[in-house]
Amino acid sequence: MQFINRQNIEIVDIFVRLFGEPVSIIASHYTTPIEFKRLPKEENRYNDIMVSVGNTIYISIEESGQVGLSDTEMLAAIAHEIGHVVYGAHSWLPDCEQRADMLPAKLGLGTQMIAAIEKILDSRRYQQLTSSLVGRIHFLQNMMRG
Ligand SMILES: [Zn+2]
Repeated sequence: MQFINRQNIEIVDIFVRLFGEPVSIIASHYTTPIEFKRLPKEENRYNDIMVSVGNTIYISIEESGQVGLSDTEMLAAIAHEIGHVVYGAHSWLPDCEQRADMLPAKLGLGTQMIAAIEKILDSRRYQQLTSSLVGRIHFLQNMMRG
C-alpha cells in the first residue's frame, strides 16, 4: 500500500516505518494510496484530533497534544483512521467506529487505542459520543481477549 506524506508529518513517518508493511498485508484488498495532511488550527472548526475524508487522513498535532496523546496512542489513532478508509467505514456510527478499531487491534495497538479513547473521554470534548466511545473500549477489550 502506498502512503503519501508530502508534509513530512513525523508521527506518520514513524507509523509507516513500523506498520506500513503489516497494514499492506492485513488490508491487501485496498490498493488506493492513502494521503496524510496536517489539519491546521484555523481550518479545524470541530476541534478534531484526526479525521478521514475519502482517502485522506487529516491530523491535528495541536488537538492531539491538548488531549495528551502519547506517540504510541497517536500511532493507534492513525491506525484507526486508516481502518475507516480500508474498511470503507465512513461514518461516526458505532458500527463504523468498531470496524475502524479492528485495524489497531490487529496491529497489536489495542491497549494504546483504549488508552487514547480514555484520554478523549477524560477531555470531555465529545460528550455526545460518550456511549459510542465506551462501546469502542468494550469492543477492543473483547477483540483482545478473542
Ligand atoms: Zn473513527
